[in-house]
Amino acid sequence: MVPEKKPALIVVDMLKDFIDPGGVLYCGEHSREIIPAVKREIDSAREKGIPVIFVNDTHAHDDSEFRMFPPHCVVNSEGAEMIPEISPLPDDYIVKKNRYSAFFETGLEELLQRLEINHLIIVGVCSNICVLYTSADALNREYSVEVPADAVTSFDREAHEFALKELKNTLGANVREN
Ligand SMILES: [Zn+2]
Repeated sequence: MVPEKKPALIVVDMLKDFIDPGGVLYCGEHSREIIPAVKREIDSAREKGIPVIFVNDTHAHDDSEFRMFPPHCVVNSEGAEMIPEISPLPDDYIVKKNRYSAFFETGLEELLQRLEINHLIIVGVCSNICVLYTSADALNREYSVEVPADAVTSFDREAHEFALKELKNTLGANVREN
């Protein structure tokens, strides 16, 4: 018997440092273009009573990730704030992460278990970084994963296309075309 799907929506890194044109790691125009699709997924989840979980990059000022990338989403900085177009409601959840995978040393897995979730819809940025590695970790943990193709993107177009293929062909995620 196929178990009933119990979905949650995971919104990855819709933060000023990535999505605001003045942000330290601004992901470019494409990241602005996905905002309506991300909002569509949030609205649809809320309508259906699906939990909405924001996973937000948050780094200490001396995080080791800053060997790879310039300092971004530093705790309590403006860049770590969510973009104004997307405002969490009191019933939503916010999980702070400091690695690409939202499962790494966060309370995400515990939260999903508590909510008895077995299916994740994942949106946000970057498709080839946090979306991909969070999806891989979710699939390793036996969650099924669905990625609406128009609600994820990257500053790197080639890497974005690769990530969609990898999600579909290697990880077995459902890359949904709308
Ligand atoms: Zn980061």
